[in-house]
Amino acid sequence: MNLLDAPWLPFKHENGEITYQPVSAIAAPDVIDLALPRADFQGAAYQFLIGLLQTTCGPSGIDGWIDNFQSPPSKEQLTAAFEPFKGSFQFEGDGPLFMQDQDSLDKESPTPASSLLIDAPGASTIKNNTDHFVKAGRAETFCVDCAAIALFTLQINAPSGGKGYRTGLRGGGPLTTLVLPSDPGASLWHKLWLNALDQGLYPYSEPEPASRDLFPWMGATRVSDKGQKTLANDVHTLHPFWAMPRRFRLIVEDDESHCDLCGRVAKRIVRSLKARNYGNNYDGP
Ligand SMILES: [Zn+2]
Repeated sequence: MNLLDAPWLPFKHENGEITYQPVSAIAAPDVIDLALPRADFQGAAYQFLIGLLQTTCGPSGIDGWIDNFQSPPSKEQLTAAFEPFKGSFQFEGDGPLFMQDQDSLDKESPTPASSLLIDAPGASTIKNNTDHFVKAGRAETFCVDCAAIALFTLQINAPSGGKGYRTGLRGGGPLTTLVLPSDPGASLWHKLWLNALDQGLYPYSEPEPASRDLFPWMGATRVSDKGQKTLANDVHTLHPFWAMPRRFRLIVEDDESHCDLCGRVAKRIVRSLKARNYGNNYDGP
């Protein structure tokens, strides 16, 4: 699955209908919102799409920003803008995988996929039977679509996860503020584009589609076993949209099953993953 052309995100239409479509559906005039099965996924999907727009077609000046706000791009224009970046958004298969470590982490034992969920209890909580407020066993089987957004949600919000399991770039309890139009019926495009930053105000060099400085999974992880830090000068200005503090490899299986998160039947599912500590150790301003 490639996250830039697979129909992996649920969109809400004006008539209330929800359909799974590729990311290029964001500019369809009748699409008014996302419809992820969890509130944290919904917020993360907004941030994924805002980061994608900023990276692939960020407005080069205020006039360009206004033009795109008044006249959203077509599906074809968006697809063309995303095309050069497809190699960095592969979710399964050979080669670098989105938000996953380049190391196969073969030496690590598999742990349940539910550890991607921020409200899931950790291993010691389950072992000690102290999962009173955070319940174990609520979600064990993820379709690949839900696994992708669960992985992204954790990487951008990562709380501290034990020795060497790094927090997200904004620390362990980040607060994200997005700008929304006053009309809740505004199109999804308008909801997203309000958050795209004009390069005149937020200057950055032209993003290279396969750059490790921009997409950390496109190269070897900056290991932090001796406390090595990843600082602003080490990475591209847009790296904060794509920060990867945790080291994971998801185990995708062929097994027709219900997804415990979205309720759909899926043929490709994720029940477990491998994790290793000492990934990107974000620090500094
Ligand atoms: Zn699902």
